[in-house]
Amino acid sequence: MMKAWTLAARPEGLPQSEHFALVEQPLPELDEGQVRVVNRWLSVDPYMRGRMNDVKSYVPPFQLGEPMQGGAIGEVVESRADAIPVGTLVSHMAGWRDEAVLPAQHVQPLPELGVDPQAFLGQFGMPGMTAYYGLLQIAEAKAGDTVFVSAAAGAVGSTVVQIAKAKGMTVIGSAGGAEKCAWVRELGADAVIDYKAGRSVVEALGEVAPEGIDVYFDNVGGDHLDAALAHARLHARFAICGMIDVYNDAKPTSLKYLARLIGNRVRIQGFIIADFKDHSGFYRDMATMLREGTLKREETVFEGLERTPEAFLALFSGGNKGKMLVRL
Ligand code: NDP
Repeated sequence: MMKAWTLAARPEGLPQSEHFALVEQPLPELDEGQVRVVNRWLSVDPYMRGRMNDVKSYVPPFQLGEPMQGGAIGEVVESRADAIPVGTLVSHMAGWRDEAVLPAQHVQPLPELGVDPQAFLGQFGMPGMTAYYGLLQIAEAKAGDTVFVSAAAGAVGSTVVQIAKAKGMTVIGSAGGAEKCAWVRELGADAVIDYKAGRSVVEALGEVAPEGIDVYFDNVGGDHLDAALAHARLHARFAICGMIDVYNDAKPTSLKYLARLIGNRVRIQGFIIADFKDHSGFYRDMATMLREGTLKREETVFEGLERTPEAFLALFSGGNKGKMLVRL
C-alpha cells in the first residue's frame, strides 16, 4: 500500500489542514519498463498553492481526491527497466507520498556531483536552476550590476545571492527577520533589508542603493516590486520569478512607481523554469562553485510524510531558511 496526500477541498486564502487528506492506496504490480520507488525526500514549493486552484495555468490543477504531485528523491526498490537498476537514486514528480510505481522515463537518476541527494530538490535542482537562468538569462545580469533579490533567504533567493556574488555583482537581499538577514549577509550579500522591521521597502532600498539597481529578481511582488521600480536605473532588467505575496490572497497589487518603466526603459519579464531544457551551463557553474568551496546550502527539514502539509504551509509564513524539505 502507498500512503499519499490528496487534495480534499479547494482552499480560498491560506489553506488549512482540512484541505488535505492522507489516504492509503494499493500499488499495481510492475509492468515492463516500470520501476517502484520508495521516496526519501519530498519537496514542498510555493507554486503548489496555484495548483490547488481550479484554474488554467502553466501546470494543471491538482485533482480533488487524487494524490498531489511534486518533486521528490527516491530509491528504486524494484525494477523492470534495464536502465534503472534497483538501488538507483532518482528524482521524479511523484511527491506527497511514500512510494510510487512509475515508467522509467518519468524518473531521472541523480547526476554524480558529490552533493547530498536532497540537494537535487534545492540548489542543484529546480530552485537552483530558477535562480541561475532567471538571473543570467532573463535579467541578463553581469559583473558590475547591482542586483536586488527578494525572499533572499529562501531556496531560490539564497542561490541568486551566491551566483550573483560569484559573478562579480553587488547584491542586496531582502528577507523577513534579523536572523535570516544575518544569514543572507553570510552568503555574501553586500546589503540586506529586513522587510519586517517596520520601514517601507522603498525607503530601505533607497538607503542601501542610493545609485539605484540594475536588476531586480522578484520572488515576492507587491511592495518589493514597487520598491524596485522606484529605484530602477536606466535599462534595468526585472526577472519576475514569483509573487508569493499574492498566492493566498488575490488582492489587487498597487504599483505606485509603475510609470518609471517608461523613462528608465526598464525591461520586465516573467519566466517559467520548465522552459529551460539545457542545464549544462547550470551544472558546470554550480560544480565550479562547489569545488571552490564558495557554495553554502541550508535546508529546513520536517520529519515524516504526515508533516508534509505543515511544511508546505510554513512557506507562507517564512518558516524556512534555504530549501524547505520533508524527510521520510
Ligand atoms: P522560498 O524558499 O523562498 O520560500 C518562500 C519564502 O517567501 C518564505 O520563506 C518567506 O521568507 C517568503 N515570503 C512568504 N510570504 C511572503 C510575503 N507575503 N512577502 C514577502 N515574503 C514572503 O521559496 P522558493 O525559493 O521555492 O520560491 C521563491 C519564489 O520563486 C516563489 O515566489 C516561487 O513561486 C517562485 N518560483 C518560480 C519559479 C518559476 O519557474 N518562475 C520556479 C520556482 C520558484 P521571509 O521569511 O523572508 O518572508
